[in-house]
Amino acid sequence: TGSIRIDRVTKKYGEATAVDALSLTIEPGEFISLLGPSGCGKTTTLRMIAGFEQPDAGDISISGRSVLGLPPYRRDVNTVFQAYALFPHMSVAENVAYGLQQRRTPKAEVRERVSEALELVQMRRFADRKPTQLSGGQQQRVALARALVNRPSVLLLDEPLGALDRQLREEMQLELKLLQARLGITFVFVTHDQGEALSMSDRIAIMRDGRIEQLADADTIYARP
Ligand code: ADP
Ligand code: ADP
Repeated sequence: TGSIRIDRVTKKYGEATAVDALSLTIEPGEFISLLGPSGCGKTTTLRMIAGFEQPDAGDISISGRSVLGLPPYRRDVNTVFQAYALFPHMSVAENVAYGLQQRRTPKAEVRERVSEALELVQMRRFADRKPTQLSGGQQQRVALARALVNRPSVLLLDEPLGALDRQLREEMQLELKLLQARLGITFVFVTHDQGEALSMSDRIAIMRDGRIEQLADADTIYARP
């Protein structure tokens, strides 16, 4: 579980091709970044893996089965966005619990999983706060807990640190990397920041005009001619 296979996937918006016959195989437990300038198709690729967009052509498999036609919640993936979109009227715990409660998870299990997820991001002691009482970095941790609470095999992250200042961003990079290693789940990380991609990833896919221009290990990618 946790593998992703993208097979000649194309997505167009009107005349414009956002993703162009893109193929990519991601290994279970890998930390891979999609890196490239604004408009090169990173977010569209991520949204198709997540199930928020449907490809016009091609196939996407997660953990060995095609997910085309499956809604996001049945794909064994979860997503963290730059704008954390927490519910402002709910506590931290309620925000994290929300998705489990929608699926009628037993109360005791919700409590245990919410605890576990908040522990992972070191936010347990903030369980009863409202999002407005938290800093931007703390809110992003809650968003991360909310994405991890149903123990997905794949976590998709779309510029999750983009709203944070530089120092916090560097702290969170390290933490995310440690968290990924500890959980052993697959991370697909979208960024336009080369340094960020280099510091966190096992592999980097450099995108341009809806295609992958270069794909290599993070420690060799810029050493090539
Ligand atoms: P990136 O994440 O690399 O910045 P995107 O995947 O967001 O790139 O966008 C790729 C291309 O698709 C861009 O040209 C963008 O304008 C276009 N695009 C993305 N989403 C939409 C949409 N919902 N409607 C129309 N065009 C879109
Ligand atoms: P409610 O009043 O609807 O129970 P809570 O904010 O107390 O709202 O809790 C929402 C969910 O999160 C509940 O399922 C609860 O079990 C869980 N929860 C609340 N506080 C904690 C906490 N400190 N640690 C772990 N889980 C919690």
